[in-house]
Amino acid sequence: MKPAFIPELIAKIALADPRVRRTDPIERRAQIEMWAGILAEVPAEFAVQAAQAHYAESQWPITAGDIAARWQTVVRDRMRRDNGTFEPGDHPGLDPDDVGGYLAALRGQRQAVAHGQLPPAPVKAITAGPAAAEAARRIAQLGDYLTGETRTALAPFRPGAAERERLVRDGLGDPLSVACPYEHCRAERGKPCRNARRHDRRTPHPSRIDLAAGVTPAAETTTTPGAWPGVDDQERTSA
Ligand SMILES: [Zn+2]
Repeated sequence: MKPAFIPELIAKIALADPRVRRTDPIERRAQIEMWAGILAEVPAEFAVQAAQAHYAESQWPITAGDIAARWQTVVRDRMRRDNGTFEPGDHPGLDPDDVGGYLAALRGQRQAVAHGQLPPAPVKAITAGPAAAEAARRIAQLGDYLTGETRTALAPFRPGAAERERLVRDGLGDPLSVACPYEHCRAERGKPCRNARRHDRRTPHPSRIDLAAGVTPAAETTTTPGAWPGVDDQERTSA
């Protein structure tokens, strides 16, 4: 808002609340100067609307800060909904090599969104648009950065990881997501189980698999290593 509009704004507000207008000429000049500084970015018509909204809900005299705060809320909301992408097609006269012109056009676009002259460009235009279902289908098909086929082909070379993936696929939970409860191992979260010689095991201890799966191991944790023929075999082969 240009400083010239400030006296008019204060006069309009004073119709609803005479307390706003200063009577002393020096004070009035200072007030106009102060309001002009605070409301430099606020459009005049918004300032009037903000004053109306203020008196609809408050009996206190409005300040320039109240108006500026309402404006900031509106701008923040608009800019939050705007993804800031610049569409050169909207500016056919713009030379691609003209950096200054590009920045000016970009600033102009942001300004137009902030002032409500342009609607905010929605952030998730692609994933929320008509292509969303297709995008979701392809992601489901691909898995993550390793495709299902690649995982199967690599399984013999990464037995530990393959075993964890199998457990997760079977809905049993990743054993490495919990610490090993087996008293002779006690491998920390994220670390592989270790055998009696403190070498990494290829497979987690059964009680750890149970723990990750949400099954409370009953007798296992109290048994001695020798009482676990299957585990002993595994330790011998993997050590
Ligand atoms: Zn273990």
